[in-house]
Amino acid sequence: MIPETFKMRACVQIDISALEHNFAQIKKIAPSANVMAMIKANAYGHGLVSVAKALPQANAFGVATIDEAIALRQAGIQQPLVVMSGFFDEAELTCMLDYQLTAVIHHFDQIQLLQQTSLSSPLGVWLKIDTGMRRLGFLPEHAASAHQALLDHPQVKKPLVVMTHLACSDQRNHPHTVTQIAQFNQAVASWPGLRSLACSAAMIDRPQIHADWVRPGILLYGISPFADQTGLMFGLKPAMTLMARLISVKEVCKGDSIGYGATWVCPKDMKIGVVSMGYGDGYPRHAKSGTPILVNGQRCTLIGRVSMDLITVDLKNQPHAKRGDPVVLWGKGLPVEEIAACAGTIGYELVCKVTTRVPVSSV
Ligand SMILES: *Cc1c(COP(=O)(O)O)cnc(C)c1O
Repeated sequence: MIPETFKMRACVQIDISALEHNFAQIKKIAPSANVMAMIKANAYGHGLVSVAKALPQANAFGVATIDEAIALRQAGIQQPLVVMSGFFDEAELTCMLDYQLTAVIHHFDQIQLLQQTSLSSPLGVWLKIDTGMRRLGFLPEHAASAHQALLDHPQVKKPLVVMTHLACSDQRNHPHTVTQIAQFNQAVASWPGLRSLACSAAMIDRPQIHADWVRPGILLYGISPFADQTGLMFGLKPAMTLMARLISVKEVCKGDSIGYGATWVCPKDMKIGVVSMGYGDGYPRHAKSGTPILVNGQRCTLIGRVSMDLITVDLKNQPHAKRGDPVVLWGKGLPVEEIAACAGTIGYELVCKVTTRVPVSSV
């Protein structure tokens, strides 16, 4: 369970076969759609380039920034790379052409820039329509003129892809989703080209909107987009396992308080472990006492406050645990969704926030 390379206090292990398995599951969920694998934010903390290399069957990769896309090109990734924010100015537009990146067009300034600049080569674009998120995109009433301008531009590649992003797809049967889908379908009804609406949650919940391109992110990593379910329930495997060690094991007495703030007081004499993991590694400081932690593969519980480099664990379920024994904070055997629920956040944030102090290895 613990890799040979795990000689250090803490590490992240990325399971490449889990990524491959999850991609195959995604193809089963949406067999007829193209897949844009969303690997922004360092592939949700899993490693931008290594995740891209593990998914050669992805029809495209989605990233948030031009820098992420350039890093992929420099690593030899050949698939289309769609930059969710598009370009901001002429320098970025030129850069996108140089690296053959695909721009999400969400603002009239971008269209104006396209019209004013003589493009040295054709540019791939996705047109984003804002159907109710009120972040990026053209309102449906402005989308037609944006679409026409892109159609008319000789250096904009055809067919165009039109996309929208759903605000409430992680809440099943949310009426806002129905409204957004209707607005999108109405806006694009007569347009040629391709369509894309579905992130992970919508892929699972609404097969009728898989359309031409699906855009899964969190599912790739084996994590559920829904708060009340885990990735395991969809046949997925967690790709990231965060591990550490017991670096101290000790007996404490009834009435002793554990850690900063003396918030947790021992109800009886007990054995506790100190784990080489803290918020300095990306473990959430708000994880509450009772959060599950695997020690030697057995569930134990966090006690006391999370500090920067250390956490403490009740060893009631592992009475023979000793210094050096392996600890899993999330991943294989312990869904990150559970830890997120105990820390008042979502799995997305936890995997993204593992810090650079923690070495990453692939298996
Ligand atoms: C990040 C992102 C996705 C993927 O979302 P998941 O919930 O992780 O599947 C899809 N579309 C857009 C526009 C995104 O920014």
